[in-house]
Amino acid sequence: MDSAAYTSRLAEELAPGILDRLTRYVRIDTQSRRDRTSSPSTPGQLELARLLAEELHTVGLIDAEVDDNGYVMATLPASPRPPADGVAIGLIAHMDTSPDAPGAGVEPLVHRSYDGGVIRLPRGGTALDPARMPELADKAGHDIITASGDTLLGADDKAGVAEVMSAVAHLAAHPELPHPALRVAFTPDEEIGLGAALFDLDRFGAACAYTLDGSSLGELQDESFSALEAILTIHGVDVHPGQATGKLVSALRLAARIVASLPEDLTPERTAGRDGFIHPFELNATAGQARIRAILRDFDEDGLRAHAELLERTARAIVDSAPGARLELDLHRQYSNMRGYLERVPEVVAAAEEAIRAEGIEPMRNPIRGGTDGSLLSEMGLPTPNVFTGGHEYHSVREWASLQEMAAAAAVAIRLAEVWSRPKYAEVARSRLTPLRSGIASS
Ligand SMILES: [Zn+2]
Repeated sequence: MDSAAYTSRLAEELAPGILDRLTRYVRIDTQSRRDRTSSPSTPGQLELARLLAEELHTVGLIDAEVDDNGYVMATLPASPRPPADGVAIGLIAHMDTSPDAPGAGVEPLVHRSYDGGVIRLPRGGTALDPARMPELADKAGHDIITASGDTLLGADDKAGVAEVMSAVAHLAAHPELPHPALRVAFTPDEEIGLGAALFDLDRFGAACAYTLDGSSLGELQDESFSALEAILTIHGVDVHPGQATGKLVSALRLAARIVASLPEDLTPERTAGRDGFIHPFELNATAGQARIRAILRDFDEDGLRAHAELLERTARAIVDSAPGARLELDLHRQYSNMRGYLERVPEVVAAAEEAIRAEGIEPMRNPIRGGTDGSLLSEMGLPTPNVFTGGHEYHSVREWASLQEMAAAAAVAIRLAEVWSRPKYAEVARSRLTPLRSGIASS
């Protein structure tokens, strides 16, 4: 193995455990399902949840359990030195995988000491071409993990789960390493936007937390999209086509016109950086009735409102032009930009920056073009920025992860625990975070 690719001795030491865990976890199908009727949305998540609770117990955490909604929580008590102050820091990752790519029957493959060329996977004609994947291009020498070509890998977010598990297992086995009490949570249904919905903040009891659910080495995200979902239902007038002259009003054709009328430069594929978008992602239609589901995203609230107004104006103009047709619009909030909440206690992000630097990596602060459990958790009163995991090309059959980057992420989690044991940070946790939590909870 090429140890030069590791960011530290610690990372290299953690790597075998992380690889073992990731390759075990991804074989369990934990794909979540939209429009759930219970939590978690799918039984596979509960299977993984039970396995993780058992494993947390085995590696030495106390009170590991799965709650009624499928959330796994456990505690690693504070190290003997420095003396415990009663404040806990949280580490969070999500157990489910995206419904947007096949998630059953994942067969992970390990490409040891990657040679920098095209990786051809055995199924589905899938290839990972570094010419089209700049992030893969500079990973020569890394150990790359992929699926087999016809499923996603599930590194989103089982890389994060494996890293958190490996980090707390390491700390449990090394009582000489200083850290405050750590609370671990593995959440269900993050990919359908509900990972934080039934998260029991009081039971978790941490002053602040970190999701390990990012991507590239060094990423530290304290800003996410603000997010709305729009469901447009168009009622047409359905008549047998033979008798339709002058009577039929096709909801399907109206829906198609609405989608086609939205600006092409306001799509996820045409925007980048800090630009928002309107993304119709599902269309079910017959002549009688059509339903368009779309997500609206922007980093600022004015931008988001403008997208919502544009969508409504466009849909109304088209539906109103067809006598007899009717539009129903359901617009609801999914999550808000976490930045405003994190800025109140800048030490939460600063501690993560220190930990990333301590691992010899330059932190990359960039906004998430998406949301994490942390978007809602921060809003609910638990400041929760997002840290990289080393996984890439999420939600696709080309998903891959670098073992060296995953090991770096786990090492960062261990260093983060040390940072929070320093007097300056322990004081911030005691005096500013815990009151902030209860202040929000009681208001
Ligand atoms: Zn994720």
